[in-house]
Amino acid sequence: MAYTLYLKKGEEKRIQAGHSWVYANEVQKIEGKDRNGSLATVCTFDGKFLGKGYINHLSKIIVRIFIRDDVEDTKELFMERLKKANDSRVRLGYNNAYRVCFGEADDLPALIIDKYDDVLSVQFLSLGMDKRKDMITECLVELFHPKGIYERSDVAVRLKEGLQEVKGVLYGEVPDRVIINENGIKIAVDVKGGQKTGYFLDQKENRLCARKYCKDATVLDCFSNTGGFSLNVATVAKEVTAVDISPTAIASVIENKELNGFTNLNAVCANVFDILREYREQGKTFGTVILDPPAFTKSVSEIKDAIRGYTDINVLGLKLVEKGGYLISSSCSHYVSQQAFEKMLIDSARIAKRRVKCIEIKSQAPDHPYLLCAEETSYLKFFVLQVD
Ligand code: SAH
Repeated sequence: MAYTLYLKKGEEKRIQAGHSWVYANEVQKIEGKDRNGSLATVCTFDGKFLGKGYINHLSKIIVRIFIRDDVEDTKELFMERLKKANDSRVRLGYNNAYRVCFGEADDLPALIIDKYDDVLSVQFLSLGMDKRKDMITECLVELFHPKGIYERSDVAVRLKEGLQEVKGVLYGEVPDRVIINENGIKIAVDVKGGQKTGYFLDQKENRLCARKYCKDATVLDCFSNTGGFSLNVATVAKEVTAVDISPTAIASVIENKELNGFTNLNAVCANVFDILREYREQGKTFGTVILDPPAFTKSVSEIKDAIRGYTDINVLGLKLVEKGGYLISSSCSHYVSQQAFEKMLIDSARIAKRRVKCIEIKSQAPDHPYLLCAEETSYLKFFVLQVD
């Protein structure tokens, strides 16, 4: 008999607002007996239907609701949801490389699908989705007719679901490099080995925005990874220096530079924290400094340390900007709120003794929408500051 979960009194409000996560400690009682990962029904304390989702007794998030009416989790339902998710991107003009499905926001919690030209890169981040891997792969083949589908479930969050990190080909043929078109430039994506699902699609529009602030400028792109920002701004800048600590990332920057025939881009393999200090000692300055570090915190307990890290690089970055130039500063740490990030920028400007104006604030790309009622799904901050 399928599981039915009854929430504690008052715990239904977040779910009724549209949030999908049911925490184990919000549950009053569970009736029924089924397999772990099966479709379970969630009710209020007094038995009113709230929705259905896959149960995982091993996870703190015991159910992620994704069905709110009287339907089953059939292949047709998945086809419908996936098609709707894709249509909403195509409608915005996305065609070559984009996030097809962003979990909760597309009513398919814990399922991430990125499209890189004719290859799909997928993450199954919950037990429920993992168990339906074959069916979801079939849906994707029918909907996209891709050349290949690759699984990039090599992420630590899977451990919280009692799952191992895995990756590999799910369907067809997956080449070592897929060339995508981003804002008119070519980028070679390593779907099998690149970070996350291969590339950071969430900054696409922000990279285009960054071009405005790099015209004829000398630009320093810190934490460049494969060169997303560097390549975008190399179309307008005088000279761009990309810095990343990973030798493979730097090799990709060079590969991408050659792919586009740029001659004004150089790539340096170094620790940003050190190189910013070295440039300062050498008296180097730049028209625009871009900071796009990895998430400095993946939990609430590390927020203080993360702010310290952000302050350090932002102070150093600000000191290197020429008068009237720009600091473009990003954070992808969900746990550092936009407010906290803004406060950090104010503190950094004071410490660096620079007066700054906020020119633009942006967020994650429109193909990475987040549910307003589920702030956990919002993570990207992007500030453009003019520095005096
Ligand atoms: N700006 C990139 C994404 C950055 S992801 C883009 O637009 O695609 C974060 C990058 O920071 C990773 O490539 C990682 O290798 C690099 N990194 C992490 N710590 C670093 C450090 N201390 N110094 C330099 N690079 C670092």
